[in-house]
Order: sequence, then structure tokens, then C-alpha cells
Amino acid sequence: MSLADAMTDLLGRVEALDAIETVATFDADRRVLAQDLVSALQVPPNDNSSMDGYAVRVADVTEPGKVLRVSQRIAAGHAGSPLEPGTCARIFTGAPMPAGADAVVMQEDTIEVGGDIHAVHIQAVPEAGQWVRRAGEDVTRGAVVLAQGERLSPASLGLAASLGLAHLPVRARPRVALFSTGDELVMPGEVPPEAMKPGAIYNSNRFFLRTLLQRMGCEVSDLGIVPDRREATLAALKSAAEHHDLILTSGGVSVGEEDHIKPSVQQLGSLDLWQIGMKPGKPFAYGTVRRESGKGAACHFIGLPGNPVSSFVTFLLLVRPFLLKLQGVSAAGLLALPPATLLPAHFTVARADKRREFLRVRRNAMGGLDLFPNQSSGVLTSAVWGDGLVDNPAGTTIAHGDPVSYISFADLLA
Ligand code: AMP
Ligand code: MG
Repeated sequence: MSLADAMTDLLGRVEALDAIETVATFDADRRVLAQDLVSALQVPPNDNSSMDGYAVRVADVTEPGKVLRVSQRIAAGHAGSPLEPGTCARIFTGAPMPAGADAVVMQEDTIEVGGDIHAVHIQAVPEAGQWVRRAGEDVTRGAVVLAQGERLSPASLGLAASLGLAHLPVRARPRVALFSTGDELVMPGEVPPEAMKPGAIYNSNRFFLRTLLQRMGCEVSDLGIVPDRREATLAALKSAAEHHDLILTSGGVSVGEEDHIKPSVQQLGSLDLWQIGMKPGKPFAYGTVRRESGKGAACHFIGLPGNPVSSFVTFLLLVRPFLLKLQGVSAAGLLALPPATLLPAHFTVARADKRREFLRVRRNAMGGLDLFPNQSSGVLTSAVWGDGLVDNPAGTTIAHGDPVSYISFADLLA
């Protein structure tokens, strides 16, 4: 199955979780809004000055050099009184405009008049509305400021706060059970490098998968390493299905006899997607695992390939949009691959692959892309060295200078 078809199929199988919770606005970064935020006020609440200077009536300053008495002083956070005609008000940035004033002259365009009366020369003729921020120019009362289904960002948290909202309704975090499979796997810290048995390797997938899930706003139950045995695999899947929305595994999903994931999922539920025409990442699987309690729908299952780069890339391209949809994200753009940029390849790919390939590349100072020399799916260094992927269609060779589709890791990790 092609990646495009697999994405459509996968996203068609997931609905947003129902549960909603209220969290402090401070803690809502990357959470998904569960309700529209309608503004109960206008922002800014009043017309106010955007400069330190003098609030005037434009009609009083018809020519440069007019002298106006300073009849009041208005600082931010303090209300002034109506502006006496023929006078001006000393005003500071953010302070509300006094009634009757219709412009601000910045202090750089004035000269204080010496002597007993406090007055200023107005050097420049102001235009009506000059240096005034209009009430409601940011947000009007009753406006939907942020829509449900939006994923909150630092800027949107600030906007929510400007409406006076200390708490926000968001979708519940997906509960994800994570486990790695493989008898060769050893946890860092358990065995020192010099004591590793032949054939043993450290579990690297567990580290980036757990971190990626957390970044995606999931509540992760890390179930550790499950040995390559049918009984152990069945038991892990069964118990994880009870209290999670998704089971995410890595490894054991190919065609060897030591790959127990696929038959186990088939036995406990259904395997609906398996093997995708992409490189790296072919042995990707999606299915469901029934809950023994019979409570609710079956638990989603996603099996990622064991090879670290395959696991990493399939997470970014497939699991990420899946998790966004599970959290109720509505923007279609977020539920697809991020938009690619066309950049010149400063490398060649002489042998076309039969599968759509995602090459680990890095932008260079000439505005082109360099290719990591070893594109093996086991070489995690490529994903650290690279700052993105080239999305190369199946059967396509690349000549030096060819424009290629580049997707940054920054976009894929956002
Ligand atoms: P598998 O999909 O189980 O056949 O694994 C494919 C390759 O990925 C093998 O070389 C495994 O040793 C390796 N691998 C599987 N899981 C992990 C992991 N958690 N960390 C690092 N390498 C892994
Ligand atoms: Mg394995």
C-alpha cells in the first residue's frame, strides 16, 4: 500500500477522544482546545496610546509650533478625565486616551516650555488617530478567538490569557502503552558497554519514542521490553489494551519466526494495515486489540519497525497525525505531511528505489541539501546529523541540482 493510501486509511480509523478536561492556561501548550473560545470583552479594552507623548485634540493643532498647556497626566493603568479643549495630556504607552483626545504626539516631536505653567510646543501637526491603539483592534467582543480543534501554541496561550482565561477546556491526553520487542535489547544503565554479550544492543527506540509521545501530549505507560515469545507478547498486548487508547510497539512486526507482533494482534483483534511502500518504514502495522472487559471500543494498535530510523520516520509521518486526530485536531493541514519546500539537491541518487523514499538530509549554506552518506535504516546518526527528509517518489533518480521536496524535522516535531 502506498504511504498516501495508508495515511488516508489510518486517519479514517481514528476518532477524537471524548474526554475533556480543564487545565491551567499555563499548562496548556500543545494541548487541543475542546471548545471555541468566545471573547467576553474587547482587546484592548479602551483606546490607548502606543507612544510616550501628549494626547491632543487634532483641531487644536492646526499648524506646527502650537503651545498647549499640560492639563493632566495619565500613566498606564490609570484613567484620565475628559481633555479640556485647548490643552493636552501627558500620556504614556498603554494609558487610556482621555475623552475628547483624538491623537497622540510623541514626546520626540515636542519641546517643553520653561517657566511656571507646564506647557509644550507641538512641533508636528498630528493626524487624527495617530499613535492611538483602537479599542477592540485585536479582539472584538463575541468573536471566536480560538476555535475548538486548535492545537495551542505559546502565542495562543497569550491570546487566551488576554481574554482573562486562567483555565482552558482541552481534550484529554491519549493514554499510550509503549513497549519494545527484541531479545537482543538491553537497557542503558543495566549492563556497561564492556560487559555486553555478543549480539546484544542497547534499546534506543524506547528513548525517542517515549520522548516523541510525551511531546505529542500523550500520557505514556512505558511497559519496557517484551521478549520475543508469543505468550509474553499476547499477555503484554492484552493487559495494555484495557486502560489505553493506543498500544505502540517497536520491532517484531516483520515476517521472521521471531516476529510475534503480527500474529498476536490478529489473534486478539484485527490487523488492518500492514506493510507500506516507503523506505525506511516498510514493516509498519495498524490494528486493534479487543478489551477483555468489553468496555468501550477496541484499543488502537500501531506496530513500528524495529530499525531505529524506520521507527523514527514512521512515527513522524504516520503516528504523529494519528495522535493529533485522536486529540481532536481539526486542521486538515496538520493531519497530513507538512508542506514540502523545493530545494536543490547537492547530491545524487543514481539508483532509483521501488519505494517512496525519505532521505536524511541537511540544508547547507548555499541553500541546497546535503545527503547523509549512509542511508541504512539502522543508522540513527543520519537522523541526528540531518535536519529533515527529502520525500523522493518511487522510481526517481536525483541528479545534482535537481529540485527535491524537503520536509524539515522542525515541522515534523512541532
Ligand atoms: P525487528 O523489526 O524486530 O526485526 O528489528 C529490526 C532491527 O531493529 C534489528 O536489527 C533489531 O535489533 C533492531 N531493533 C529492534 N528494536 C530496537 C530497539 N528498541 N532499539 C534499537 N534497535 C532495535
Ligand atoms: Mg526483533
